[in-house]
Amino acid sequence: MIIMKSEASKEEIASVVKEIKKYGLKADVSRGEYRTVIGLVGDERKIDFSHFATLPGVKEAVMVETPYKLISREYSRRFEEEGERREIPVGNVTIGGDDPVFIAGPCAIESREQLFKIAEGVKKAGAHILRGGIFKPRSSVHSFQGLGSNGREEAEEALKWLYEAGREFEMPVVTEVRGETQIDLVAEYVDIMQIGARNMYDQDLLANVARKQKPVLFKRHFGAGIDEFLSFAEYIAAEGNKDIILCERGILPVGKGKNYTRYTFDVAAVPVLQKETYLPVLADPSHATGRRDLIFNMSCAAIAAGASGLMVETHYNPSEALVDAQQMITPDELKEVIAACRRIHQLVARGPESIG
Ligand code: PEP
Ligand code: MN
Repeated sequence: MIIMKSEASKEEIASVVKEIKKYGLKADVSRGEYRTVIGLVGDERKIDFSHFATLPGVKEAVMVETPYKLISREYSRRFEEEGERREIPVGNVTIGGDDPVFIAGPCAIESREQLFKIAEGVKKAGAHILRGGIFKPRSSVHSFQGLGSNGREEAEEALKWLYEAGREFEMPVVTEVRGETQIDLVAEYVDIMQIGARNMYDQDLLANVARKQKPVLFKRHFGAGIDEFLSFAEYIAAEGNKDIILCERGILPVGKGKNYTRYTFDVAAVPVLQKETYLPVLADPSHATGRRDLIFNMSCAAIAAGASGLMVETHYNPSEALVDAQQMITPDELKEVIAACRRIHQLVARGPESIG
Protein backbone atom coordinates (compact mmCIF):
# COMPACT_ATOMS: atom_id res chain seq x y z
CA MET A 1 0.00 0.00 0.00
CA ILE A 2 1.04 3.57 -0.64
CA ILE A 3 0.62 5.89 2.32
CA MET A 4 0.30 9.53 1.29
CA LYS A 5 1.51 12.48 3.35
CA SER A 6 -1.34 14.18 5.18
CA GLU A 7 -0.80 17.30 3.09
CA ALA A 8 -0.70 15.41 -0.25
CA SER A 9 -2.67 17.18 -2.97
CA LYS A 10 -5.39 15.70 -5.16
CA GLU A 11 -3.03 15.89 -8.13
CA GLU A 12 -0.33 13.97 -6.27
CA ILE A 13 -2.83 11.25 -5.35
CA ALA A 14 -4.05 11.10 -8.94
CA SER A 15 -0.55 10.73 -10.30
CA VAL A 16 0.21 7.85 -7.91
CA VAL A 17 -2.99 6.13 -9.09
CA LYS A 18 -1.92 6.66 -12.69
CA GLU A 19 1.49 5.18 -11.97
CA ILE A 20 -0.12 2.10 -10.34
CA LYS A 21 -2.27 1.56 -13.43
CA LYS A 22 0.84 1.63 -15.61
CA TYR A 23 1.91 -1.57 -13.89
CA GLY A 24 -1.42 -3.17 -14.77
CA LEU A 25 -2.72 -3.00 -11.19
CA LYS A 26 -5.85 -1.36 -9.78
CA ALA A 27 -5.78 1.27 -7.06
CA ASP A 28 -8.06 1.30 -4.02
CA VAL A 29 -8.10 4.85 -2.73
CA SER A 30 -9.17 5.27 0.91
CA ARG A 31 -9.47 8.80 2.18
CA GLY A 32 -9.43 8.84 5.96
CA GLU A 33 -9.60 11.48 8.61
CA TYR A 34 -5.81 11.62 8.79
CA ARG A 35 -4.50 10.77 5.38
CA THR A 36 -5.12 8.97 2.14
CA VAL A 37 -3.94 5.41 1.69
CA ILE A 38 -3.84 3.69 -1.67
CA GLY A 39 -4.13 -0.09 -1.73
CA LEU A 40 -2.84 -2.06 -4.66
CA VAL A 41 -5.15 -4.60 -6.25
CA GLY A 42 -3.22 -7.23 -8.16
CA ASP A 43 0.24 -8.75 -8.06
CA GLU A 44 2.34 -6.40 -5.93
CA ARG A 45 5.57 -8.05 -7.00
CA LYS A 46 5.30 -6.17 -10.30
CA ILE A 47 5.82 -2.93 -8.40
CA ASP A 48 9.06 -1.21 -7.59
CA PHE A 49 8.24 0.06 -4.11
CA SER A 50 11.37 2.17 -3.81
CA HIS A 51 10.29 4.10 -6.91
CA PHE A 52 6.84 4.80 -5.40
CA ALA A 53 8.42 6.04 -2.18
CA THR A 54 10.08 8.85 -4.14
CA LEU A 55 6.91 10.16 -5.84
CA PRO A 56 5.67 13.60 -4.70
CA GLY A 57 3.22 13.44 -1.79
CA VAL A 58 4.13 9.86 -0.83
CA LYS A 59 5.04 9.24 2.80
CA GLU A 60 5.70 5.52 2.63
CA ALA A 61 5.27 2.56 0.28
CA VAL A 62 4.91 -0.75 2.10
CA MET A 63 4.21 -4.33 1.12
CA VAL A 64 1.36 -5.96 3.05
CA GLU A 65 1.64 -9.71 3.22
CA THR A 66 -1.97 -10.57 4.10
CA PRO A 67 -4.12 -11.78 1.19
CA TYR A 68 -7.02 -9.72 2.51
CA LYS A 69 -5.39 -6.36 2.95
CA LEU A 70 -8.22 -4.14 1.65
CA ILE A 71 -10.53 -5.32 4.41
CA SER A 72 -7.88 -5.65 7.09
CA ARG A 73 -7.64 -3.59 10.24
CA GLU A 74 -4.00 -3.04 9.45
CA TYR A 75 -4.97 -1.17 6.29
CA SER A 76 -7.63 0.97 7.94
CA ARG A 77 -5.30 1.89 10.79
CA ARG A 78 -3.20 3.79 8.27
CA PHE A 79 -5.92 6.24 7.45
CA GLU A 80 -8.00 6.34 10.67
CA GLU A 81 -6.29 6.72 14.01
CA GLU A 82 -8.10 3.85 15.72
CA GLY A 83 -8.77 1.94 12.53
CA GLU A 84 -12.13 2.04 10.86
CA ARG A 85 -15.14 0.15 12.26
CA ARG A 86 -17.27 0.13 9.19
CA GLU A 87 -20.89 1.10 9.60
CA ILE A 88 -23.07 0.05 6.71
CA PRO A 89 -26.24 2.08 6.34
CA VAL A 90 -29.11 0.20 4.71
CA GLY A 91 -32.35 2.14 4.53
CA ASN A 92 -33.34 3.03 8.08
CA VAL A 93 -30.83 0.60 9.64
CA THR A 94 -27.10 0.79 10.35
CA ILE A 95 -25.21 -2.50 10.38
CA GLY A 96 -22.08 -2.39 12.52
CA GLY A 97 -23.25 0.65 14.48
CA ASP A 98 -23.88 0.95 18.19
CA ASP A 99 -26.88 -1.37 18.29
CA PRO A 100 -27.16 -4.99 17.22
CA VAL A 101 -29.15 -5.62 14.05
CA PHE A 102 -31.56 -8.52 13.63
CA ILE A 103 -32.38 -10.05 10.26
CA ALA A 104 -35.36 -12.38 10.34
CA GLY A 105 -37.81 -14.10 8.05
CA PRO A 106 -38.52 -17.47 6.50
CA CYS A 107 -35.90 -19.75 5.05
CA ALA A 108 -37.86 -19.78 1.78
CA ILE A 109 -40.63 -17.54 0.52
CA GLU A 110 -43.57 -19.80 -0.28
CA SER A 111 -46.41 -17.38 -0.96
CA ARG A 112 -47.25 -13.69 -0.65
CA GLU A 113 -49.50 -14.42 2.29
CA GLN A 114 -46.86 -16.47 4.12
CA LEU A 115 -44.25 -13.75 3.61
CA PHE A 116 -46.46 -10.86 4.72
CA LYS A 117 -47.64 -12.71 7.80
CA ILE A 118 -44.04 -13.48 8.80
CA ALA A 119 -42.90 -9.94 7.96
CA GLU A 120 -45.55 -8.49 10.24
CA GLY A 121 -44.57 -10.91 13.00
CA VAL A 122 -40.84 -10.29 12.87
CA LYS A 123 -41.32 -6.52 12.69
CA LYS A 124 -43.44 -6.63 15.86
CA ALA A 125 -40.78 -8.80 17.48
CA GLY A 126 -38.18 -6.08 16.85
CA ALA A 127 -36.40 -7.29 13.72
CA HIS A 128 -34.77 -4.66 11.49
CA ILE A 129 -34.26 -6.46 8.18
CA LEU A 130 -36.46 -8.99 6.39
CA ARG A 131 -34.99 -12.10 4.77
CA GLY A 132 -36.56 -14.72 2.53
CA GLY A 133 -34.99 -17.20 0.11
CA ILE A 134 -36.14 -17.30 -3.52
CA PHE A 135 -33.22 -19.18 -5.07
CA LYS A 136 -32.55 -21.89 -2.49
CA PRO A 137 -29.36 -23.92 -2.48
CA ARG A 138 -30.53 -27.49 -1.74
CA SER A 139 -28.66 -30.76 -1.39
CA SER A 140 -31.32 -32.68 -3.30
CA VAL A 141 -32.79 -31.80 -6.67
CA HIS A 142 -36.01 -33.43 -5.48
CA SER A 143 -36.68 -30.93 -2.70
CA PHE A 144 -38.26 -27.48 -2.97
CA GLN A 145 -35.74 -25.16 -4.62
CA GLY A 146 -37.51 -21.89 -3.92
CA LEU A 147 -39.98 -20.06 -6.15
CA GLY A 148 -37.08 -18.78 -8.23
CA SER A 149 -36.65 -22.22 -9.75
CA ASN A 150 -40.04 -21.95 -11.47
CA GLY A 151 -38.71 -19.52 -14.03
CA ARG A 152 -38.06 -15.82 -14.31
CA GLU A 153 -41.66 -14.72 -13.93
CA GLU A 154 -42.22 -16.47 -10.63
CA ALA A 155 -38.83 -15.36 -9.39
CA GLU A 156 -39.68 -11.76 -10.17
CA GLU A 157 -43.09 -12.08 -8.56
CA ALA A 158 -41.52 -13.37 -5.33
CA LEU A 159 -38.95 -10.57 -5.45
CA LYS A 160 -41.78 -8.05 -5.74
CA TRP A 161 -43.49 -9.53 -2.67
CA LEU A 162 -40.23 -9.24 -0.77
CA TYR A 163 -39.81 -5.63 -1.89
CA GLU A 164 -43.42 -4.78 -1.00
CA ALA A 165 -43.29 -6.51 2.38
CA GLY A 166 -40.12 -4.54 3.13
CA ARG A 167 -41.80 -1.26 2.25
CA GLU A 168 -44.99 -2.07 4.10
CA PHE A 169 -43.25 -3.02 7.33
CA GLU A 170 -40.37 -0.58 6.94
CA MET A 171 -37.55 -3.09 6.77
CA PRO A 172 -34.76 -3.31 4.19
CA VAL A 173 -34.74 -6.74 2.54
CA VAL A 174 -32.16 -9.39 1.71
CA THR A 175 -32.19 -12.51 -0.43
CA GLU A 176 -29.59 -14.90 -1.78
CA VAL A 177 -28.17 -14.76 -5.29
CA ARG A 178 -27.19 -18.30 -6.21
CA GLY A 179 -25.93 -17.77 -9.74
CA GLU A 180 -24.69 -15.07 -12.07
CA THR A 181 -27.84 -15.08 -14.21
CA GLN A 182 -29.86 -13.98 -11.17
CA ILE A 183 -27.78 -10.94 -10.27
CA ASP A 184 -29.48 -8.22 -12.33
CA LEU A 185 -32.97 -9.32 -11.38
CA VAL A 186 -32.26 -9.63 -7.67
CA ALA A 187 -30.39 -6.31 -7.54
CA GLU A 188 -33.51 -4.53 -8.79
CA TYR A 189 -35.55 -5.48 -5.74
CA VAL A 190 -33.35 -5.95 -2.70
CA ASP A 191 -31.31 -3.73 -0.41
CA ILE A 192 -28.72 -6.38 0.46
CA MET A 193 -27.50 -9.22 -1.75
CA GLN A 194 -26.65 -12.46 0.01
CA ILE A 195 -23.95 -14.88 -1.10
CA GLY A 196 -24.61 -18.24 0.52
CA ALA A 197 -22.13 -20.57 2.16
CA ARG A 198 -22.00 -22.91 -0.83
CA ASN A 199 -20.97 -20.08 -3.15
CA MET A 200 -18.33 -18.50 -0.95
CA TYR A 201 -15.63 -19.75 -3.33
CA ASP A 202 -17.29 -18.57 -6.55
CA GLN A 203 -15.03 -15.64 -7.37
CA ASP A 204 -16.88 -14.66 -10.55
CA LEU A 205 -20.19 -14.56 -8.71
CA LEU A 206 -18.57 -12.53 -5.94
CA ALA A 207 -17.06 -9.97 -8.32
CA ASN A 208 -20.25 -9.58 -10.33
CA VAL A 209 -22.45 -9.21 -7.26
CA ALA A 210 -19.95 -6.71 -5.82
CA ARG A 211 -20.20 -4.57 -8.97
CA LYS A 212 -23.83 -3.81 -8.17
CA GLN A 213 -22.36 -1.67 -5.37
CA LYS A 214 -25.03 -2.82 -2.91
CA PRO A 215 -24.20 -4.19 0.53
CA VAL A 216 -23.31 -7.89 0.39
CA LEU A 217 -24.16 -10.37 3.13
CA PHE A 218 -21.32 -12.84 2.76
CA LYS A 219 -21.62 -16.22 4.44
CA ARG A 220 -18.69 -18.42 5.39
CA HIS A 221 -18.46 -21.81 3.67
CA PHE A 222 -18.79 -24.68 6.17
CA GLY A 223 -15.36 -25.98 5.17
CA ALA A 224 -13.54 -22.66 4.97
CA GLY A 225 -10.85 -21.44 7.31
CA ILE A 226 -11.12 -17.87 8.50
CA ASP A 227 -8.25 -16.76 6.25
CA GLU A 228 -9.95 -18.31 3.21
CA PHE A 229 -13.23 -16.67 4.12
CA LEU A 230 -11.52 -13.28 4.30
CA SER A 231 -9.47 -13.87 1.16
CA PHE A 232 -12.70 -14.38 -0.75
CA ALA A 233 -14.36 -11.37 0.88
CA GLU A 234 -11.42 -9.46 -0.60
CA TYR A 235 -12.78 -10.25 -4.09
CA ILE A 236 -15.79 -8.11 -3.20
CA ALA A 237 -13.63 -5.30 -1.79
CA ALA A 238 -11.39 -5.40 -4.87
CA GLU A 239 -14.40 -4.23 -6.92
CA GLY A 240 -14.49 -1.09 -4.81
CA ASN A 241 -17.37 -2.41 -2.70
CA LYS A 242 -16.47 -2.47 1.01
CA ASP A 243 -20.05 -2.78 2.20
CA ILE A 244 -19.47 -6.38 3.16
CA ILE A 245 -21.30 -7.97 6.07
CA LEU A 246 -19.55 -11.16 7.15
CA CYS A 247 -21.67 -13.98 8.53
CA GLU A 248 -20.55 -17.00 10.55
CA ARG A 249 -23.04 -19.83 9.98
CA GLY A 250 -21.33 -22.97 11.28
CA ILE A 251 -18.60 -25.26 10.00
CA LEU A 252 -18.59 -29.01 9.37
CA PRO A 253 -19.15 -31.12 12.48
CA VAL A 254 -16.48 -33.50 13.75
CA GLY A 255 -16.73 -37.19 14.68
CA LYS A 256 -18.33 -40.16 12.99
CA GLY A 257 -21.16 -40.65 15.45
CA LYS A 258 -24.45 -38.89 15.80
CA ASN A 259 -24.33 -35.16 15.12
CA TYR A 260 -26.26 -33.22 17.68
CA THR A 261 -26.16 -30.04 15.65
CA ARG A 262 -26.42 -29.47 11.90
CA TYR A 263 -23.05 -27.70 11.85
CA THR A 264 -20.56 -26.65 14.52
CA PHE A 265 -21.13 -23.05 15.47
CA ASP A 266 -17.69 -21.43 15.40
CA VAL A 267 -18.45 -18.73 17.93
CA ALA A 268 -14.78 -17.78 18.30
CA ALA A 269 -14.75 -16.86 14.59
CA VAL A 270 -16.89 -13.84 15.49
CA PRO A 271 -14.31 -11.96 17.59
CA VAL A 272 -11.47 -13.21 15.38
CA LEU A 273 -13.14 -11.72 12.32
CA GLN A 274 -13.85 -8.51 14.22
CA LYS A 275 -10.15 -8.26 15.07
CA GLU A 276 -8.85 -9.09 11.59
CA THR A 277 -11.15 -6.76 9.67
CA TYR A 278 -13.11 -3.57 10.10
CA LEU A 279 -16.24 -5.15 8.62
CA PRO A 280 -19.34 -5.91 10.66
CA VAL A 281 -19.78 -9.57 11.59
CA LEU A 282 -23.14 -11.27 12.00
CA ALA A 283 -23.95 -14.78 13.13
CA ASP A 284 -26.60 -17.21 11.94
CA PRO A 285 -27.54 -19.57 14.77
CA SER A 286 -30.30 -21.15 12.66
CA HIS A 287 -28.12 -22.87 10.07
CA ALA A 288 -25.25 -23.27 12.54
CA THR A 289 -27.28 -25.48 14.87
CA GLY A 290 -30.26 -26.61 12.83
CA ARG A 291 -32.19 -26.80 16.10
CA ARG A 292 -34.96 -24.51 17.25
CA ASP A 293 -34.36 -25.41 20.91
CA LEU A 294 -30.80 -24.05 20.73
CA ILE A 295 -31.49 -20.72 19.04
CA PHE A 296 -32.00 -18.68 22.21
CA ASN A 297 -28.76 -19.75 23.87
CA MET A 298 -26.63 -19.62 20.74
CA SER A 299 -28.00 -16.20 19.81
CA CYS A 300 -26.94 -14.94 23.24
CA ALA A 301 -23.55 -16.58 22.80
CA ALA A 302 -22.96 -14.93 19.41
CA ILE A 303 -23.86 -11.48 20.71
CA ALA A 304 -21.69 -12.03 23.79
CA ALA A 305 -18.87 -12.92 21.40
CA GLY A 306 -19.20 -9.50 19.82
CA ALA A 307 -21.47 -10.08 16.82
CA SER A 308 -23.00 -6.93 15.33
CA GLY A 309 -26.26 -8.79 14.90
CA LEU A 310 -27.94 -12.04 13.92
CA MET A 311 -29.81 -13.67 11.12
CA VAL A 312 -32.56 -15.90 12.50
CA GLU A 313 -35.01 -17.95 10.47
CA THR A 314 -38.51 -17.26 11.70
CA HIS A 315 -41.99 -18.58 10.85
CA TYR A 316 -45.41 -18.22 12.49
CA ASN A 317 -45.84 -21.99 12.23
CA PRO A 318 -42.40 -23.56 11.78
CA SER A 319 -43.68 -27.11 11.30
CA GLU A 320 -45.49 -26.19 8.09
CA ALA A 321 -42.41 -24.64 6.41
CA LEU A 322 -41.17 -26.44 3.30
CA VAL A 323 -37.50 -25.76 4.10
CA ASP A 324 -35.61 -25.86 7.42
CA ALA A 325 -38.74 -26.33 9.54
CA GLN A 326 -36.67 -27.86 12.36
CA GLN A 327 -34.61 -24.72 12.96
CA MET A 328 -37.18 -21.94 12.71
CA ILE A 329 -38.50 -20.09 15.69
CA THR A 330 -41.74 -18.14 16.03
CA PRO A 331 -41.98 -14.34 16.16
CA ASP A 332 -42.78 -14.59 19.89
CA GLU A 333 -39.57 -16.53 20.46
CA LEU A 334 -37.68 -14.05 18.29
CA LYS A 335 -38.89 -11.26 20.54
CA GLU A 336 -37.30 -12.99 23.53
CA VAL A 337 -34.07 -13.55 21.61
CA ILE A 338 -33.89 -9.87 20.65
CA ALA A 339 -34.62 -8.65 24.17
CA ALA A 340 -31.93 -10.87 25.68
CA CYS A 341 -29.40 -10.03 22.96
CA ARG A 342 -29.88 -6.30 23.39
CA ARG A 343 -29.04 -6.57 27.08
CA ILE A 344 -26.05 -8.77 26.46
CA HIS A 345 -24.80 -6.44 23.72
CA GLN A 346 -24.93 -3.48 26.08
CA LEU A 347 -23.02 -5.43 28.67
CA VAL A 348 -20.23 -7.08 26.72
CA ALA A 349 -20.06 -6.30 23.05
CA ARG A 350 -17.65 -3.42 23.41
CA GLY A 351 -15.21 -5.38 25.52
CA PRO A 352 -14.41 -5.48 29.23
CA GLU A 353 -14.05 -1.69 29.43
CA SER A 354 -17.76 -1.30 28.75
CA ILE A 355 -18.70 -3.02 32.03
CA GLY A 356 -19.33 -0.28 34.53
C1 PEP B 1 -29.65 -19.13 3.97
O1 PEP B 1 -29.29 -18.24 4.74
O2 PEP B 1 -30.76 -19.11 3.41
C2 PEP B 1 -28.76 -20.27 3.68
C3 PEP B 1 -29.04 -21.14 2.72
O3 PEP B 1 -27.69 -20.32 4.47
P1 PEP B 1 -26.23 -20.94 4.17
O4 PEP B 1 -25.80 -20.41 2.83
O5 PEP B 1 -25.41 -20.43 5.30
O6 PEP B 1 -26.38 -22.42 4.19
MN1 MN C 1 -32.53 -22.09 5.70
